[in-house]
Amino acid sequence: MSKIAIIGAGFGGMAAAWDLQRAGHVVTIYEAADYVGGLASGFKEPGWDWSVEKFYHHWFQSDKYMLGLIKELGWQDKVLFPRPLTVMYYKGKFYPFDSIVKMALFPGLGWGLNKVRFGLVGLYLRLTNAWKPLERVTVADWLRKWAGKQVYELMWEPLVMGKFGERYYQQVNMAWMWARLKSRTTRLGTFEGGFQNFANMFAQKLTGLGVQIRLQTPVTLIERQAATGQVIIHGEKEEAYDQVLVTLSPEAISRLVPSLPEQYLHGLRSMKSMGAVVVTLALKHQLSEQGYYWYNLPKSAGYPFLALVEHTNYVSPEHFGGDHIVYMGDYLEPEHEYFRLTQEELLDRFLPALTKFNPKFERTWVKKAWLYRTAYAQPVPLVNHSKNIPDIQTPIDGIFFASMSQVYPWDRGTNFAVEIGRRAARLMMDKATKT
Ligand SMILES: Cc1cc2nc3c(=O)[nH]c(=O)nc-3n(C[C@H](O)[C@H](O)[C@H](O)COP(=O)(O)OP(=O)(O)OC[C@H]3O[C@@H](n4cnc5c(N)ncnc54)[C@H](O)[C@@H]3O)c2cc1C
Repeated sequence: MSKIAIIGAGFGGMAAAWDLQRAGHVVTIYEAADYVGGLASGFKEPGWDWSVEKFYHHWFQSDKYMLGLIKELGWQDKVLFPRPLTVMYYKGKFYPFDSIVKMALFPGLGWGLNKVRFGLVGLYLRLTNAWKPLERVTVADWLRKWAGKQVYELMWEPLVMGKFGERYYQQVNMAWMWARLKSRTTRLGTFEGGFQNFANMFAQKLTGLGVQIRLQTPVTLIERQAATGQVIIHGEKEEAYDQVLVTLSPEAISRLVPSLPEQYLHGLRSMKSMGAVVVTLALKHQLSEQGYYWYNLPKSAGYPFLALVEHTNYVSPEHFGGDHIVYMGDYLEPEHEYFRLTQEELLDRFLPALTKFNPKFERTWVKKAWLYRTAYAQPVPLVNHSKNIPDIQTPIDGIFFASMSQVYPWDRGTNFAVEIGRRAARLMMDKATKT
């Protein structure tokens, strides 16, 4: 039996705790915030039955690690998979784009060779499992070659540009695009009550098993004591553990564990990621009267954000006291001015664009607004990225690391947070049995 600390009560940390505690270890989770759920957490107004995620979230039907965990917990009847409508922008208009038939009808590609190439490339990427050769080339080069310049520029470039910005979009490797196409479905899932409800229920289950979850307890330093072989956690007080799992960003673990060898630290510090800025609105009226859930907006179309997501065109506004919930979000480098502007300043930039989705929109429709930002939202996979992925077992005995940046070639998501959290737990259990 080992005494184990987990840093972070996101889904990765909680999934690891679920396996470790049930295997007979004694687990304590340290969480800096006053809530569990991490990046997938949500907030709730007094009149709402459901919470709203701070950053729009849903699952895919292929999210087998998350859906498998939920099944183990016995809550599969709480997972809902509505079929929301996703649309693509083309020349000032929006076109449904969430099924093969709708993609075939999308006017942007014309009716000839382009559509065939788009279809064949999509099919190939969905069928192949050989992602390794794809990481040696950029999305831009591979798709220009195989789908053609026009198809790439119209269909794929806006996606990579939106996610990775001017700085990285030409450098992201093709395995990232492969992983997205491979693992995504058009049906999108959520949890009854919202992701925060699920996180709270999971935390309660863990606490019931004996896991100690210490909220508002940021860890400031982690070091291994050579004399005892134990790992010391520094925070509000010092405590010794046999093993520690860190589920934060590469940058954060490099600060928390400065005694890591220089080469490993250098690897952590050179990992790139994008941040995210999301403004959420509670509106008096429905914005997209066509009932669209997700609008993909190419940067070139001049909108002040990348995605407009009307959450209540996905789950009913009844859960939010009749409020209509709309997200306006973007992936940006942490130096971007959106990380410095106030909520009011961002609203001044964002709200005028809403008349493009509904000409009747007026500022008086806004009942309340919220702003959430995170500097660590989306790891950037450059060419030959697999050789840069840090090992879960760090070079310091007893200190483990599992983050969004290590689920590659898969793209980050709660599904893969669960997978890597449980993978780390297995390594820690193996170590415990050996010592
Ligand atoms: C804009 C956006 C949209 C997304 N959309 C989706 C989606 O649709 N579907 C999906 O599945 N996933 C989505 N994700 C990704 C998903 O949120 C993450 O992959 C997942 O939540 C990561 O979980 P984690 O446990 O690895 O890390 P985190 O959730 O980041 O958990 C880490 C925890 O550590 C805590 N912490 C930080 N520093 C300290 C410290 N010093 N001491 C103690 N605790 C600390 C943090 O407060 C946090 O709770 C999205 C993310 C973003 C940003």
